[in-house]
Amino acid sequence: MFVLAGVLAGSAPVLAQPVAPPGPATLSAHQRLAREIYQQLVEINTVDSVGSVTSAAEAMASRFRAAGFPAADVQLLIPPGKPTKGNLVVRYHGKGGAAARKPILLLAHLDVVAANRGDWPRDPFTLVEERGYFLGRGTSDDKAMAAMFVANVLQMQAEHYASDRDVILALTADEEGGDGNGVEWLLATHRPLIEAAYALNEGGGGLLEGDKPVLHSIGAAEKVYIDFTFTTRNPGGHSSVPRPDNAIYELAEGLSRLSKYVFPVELNEVTRPFFAQTAKVEPRPEMAAAMRALVANPADAAAAATLSKDPRYASMLRTTCVATRLFGGHAYNALPALATANVNCRVAPTSNAAAVMAGLTQAVADTGIAITFTQTSTPKFGRAPSPVDPQLLDAVTDLTRKMWGDIPVIPTMSTGASDGAFLRGAGIPTFGVSGIFMQSGESNAHGRDEKLRVRSFYEGLDFLDAVVRRVTAGPRM
Ligand SMILES: [Zn+2]
Repeated sequence: MFVLAGVLAGSAPVLAQPVAPPGPATLSAHQRLAREIYQQLVEINTVDSVGSVTSAAEAMASRFRAAGFPAADVQLLIPPGKPTKGNLVVRYHGKGGAAARKPILLLAHLDVVAANRGDWPRDPFTLVEERGYFLGRGTSDDKAMAAMFVANVLQMQAEHYASDRDVILALTADEEGGDGNGVEWLLATHRPLIEAAYALNEGGGGLLEGDKPVLHSIGAAEKVYIDFTFTTRNPGGHSSVPRPDNAIYELAEGLSRLSKYVFPVELNEVTRPFFAQTAKVEPRPEMAAAMRALVANPADAAAAATLSKDPRYASMLRTTCVATRLFGGHAYNALPALATANVNCRVAPTSNAAAVMAGLTQAVADTGIAITFTQTSTPKFGRAPSPVDPQLLDAVTDLTRKMWGDIPVIPTMSTGASDGAFLRGAGIPTFGVSGIFMQSGESNAHGRDEKLRVRSFYEGLDFLDAVVRRVTAGPRM
C-alpha cells in the first residue's frame, strides 16, 4: 500500500457517510471499458492464501489476446509451486526500432489486503457505486491504477498509437505481503521482460481539501526498511534473590536511551524540493518558515527541531528507529536469562545499514546489549534518490495545471515501502504517479469500506493516458 506521506496535516476528519461530487453524467466508450475492467478486478478475490492473483492476471491476459496482442507479448508468469501468485507482463511495441529509447514500465499490484464479509456493511468483493464513490476492497489499493493501465494500453493498441518506445505493463502478486512478491521474483527470473528506463507505480496522487485540489505529489523515493534485534543475556537465578544485573532491566534501560536518540538530518534530491514546494501550501506559518530555513541550511538545528514536532515531517528528515516487539524471561519465579526487542528502522535512502548499526550502538551505550540484523529482512538500498525524470516531471506539471489548475507538483519521499523498493534496489528508478485525487485518509485503504471518488477514477484514467503519451511521443527537445 502507499500513504501520501508528509503532506498537509490537519485535514477535516472523514465523515461516516461521506458524499462526493458525482462523476461524469455519461461515460465515453473508453470510460465504460475502464469501469468494466475495474469491476472485474475488484470482484476477483486476490487476497493472499484465500483468493487468486493468477485468476485476475488471466482475466486481463485474455483481454489483451482478444485485442490482437501476440501471445509472446502477453506473458502470464507463475512462480514454481505458487499457482495463485501469477504475474502478467504485457509489452506494447513502440515504432522506434533499434534506436528507440529504453521502455517505460507501468506497474500495479493485483493482490489486496484481506477483507472479511462480517467487518463490512456489504460484500467487499462487489464493486458498488454510490454517493460519488466506488466502494470495495482494492478500489483504491491498487486495482484502480491496474484498471486504468489495462484500459489505456488496450486503447493504444486499438488506435495503433505510434509510441517512440516500448510500453511494458506488469500486474503483480504479493505486494501486500505473502511469500511470492511478484516484482522481486520477476527481477530475479525475468528481468529482460521488465527492463525499463523507469517505472510508474502507486505512491503518488493529489490531495483534496474538501473538494478542492491543493497539491499533486509524485512519489520519488522511499525510506529503506531494516529490523534489528537487541539481545541481553544473564546467568539468571532464583527470583527470590534478585541481583543488580538483570537482562530485562538492562534491555529496558537501553531502549529508554534509544527513545531519546535522534539520527542526523539527511536531506536528498527528493526531500529538499519536497520541503521547498510544501512550504508554499503548509498552513502553519512556523512550519513553513522552518521548511524554508532548512532548505537554505540543512544544518539549521532549530528549524529541524520545529519540523520534528510533526511526526510525518520528522520521519522525512532522518532515519528513525523504534522498538516494536519485546520478549523476555522464561518463568514467573526466575530471574530472566534472556530478553530481546525488535527495533524497526526506516532508514534515509542516502544512509546504509552499517551507519544505522553504528547509530544504534551509540544510542544504547551498553556493550552488554547485542545488536544484530533480524534475519527476515534484507535491506534494499538502491542508488541515492535522483530528481524526477525531467520529461516526466514536465508532463505531470503541465497536465496538472490543465486538469486541476495552478497547484504545486511536489516530489515526495514515502516513509513506508512499496514494490518501488525492489525496482529502485535493482537500479530502475520508480515514480509514484497517479493523477488520483482524494482527501487525506479518505480511501481507507486496507480498512473497511475502501473507496475511491468516481470523479477521481475517470480523471486518473485520462491523466495517466496523457502522461504515458507525453513520455512516449519522442525525446525532449
Ligand atoms: Zn498498494
